[in-house]
Amino acid sequence: MFRVGIGEDLHPVDDGRTLVLGGVIIEEGPGLRGHSDADVLLHAITDAVLGAAALGDIGHHFPPGDPRYAHADSADFLRTALRLAREAGWVPANIDATIRAERPRLSPYIPHIRQRIAEIAGLPLDAISVKAKSGEGLDAVGRGEAMAAIAVVLLTHRG
Ligand code: MG
Repeated sequence: MFRVGIGEDLHPVDDGRTLVLGGVIIEEGPGLRGHSDADVLLHAITDAVLGAAALGDIGHHFPPGDPRYAHADSADFLRTALRLAREAGWVPANIDATIRAERPRLSPYIPHIRQRIAEIAGLPLDAISVKAKSGEGLDAVGRGEAMAAIAVVLLTHRG
């Protein structure tokens, strides 16, 4: 038994904040605006896990206005989504994601981001794929006003 889920997210760029992508602090920034740590990649992956298990979405489980989640570590969102999926009998098989950002150039950070997501999700490195694309000068991402992420997750039933 398999279930596939999709997640996507978009956050506005905020030069005053630290960039966190896939649980990795990226010093060269710019950062992203958001109630939590604004980790657009982990948010997309969390929504993909919740979607695959038909458990709602990230806004339902972690409401953005809730003071408990101010500056929250988004790794906790992903861990919670995976725990809820496991409680429903589903275990992750693989994660594939794409980040869209105009700057910084993300390719040097991809190995570390994959490793960090593997740690958070408790999966082998070869089950985690992260790609980076620029916005080609188009839309809010291309103008450097936002970063976006899209993710798919496959869950298998442990039974
Ligand atoms: Mg988000």
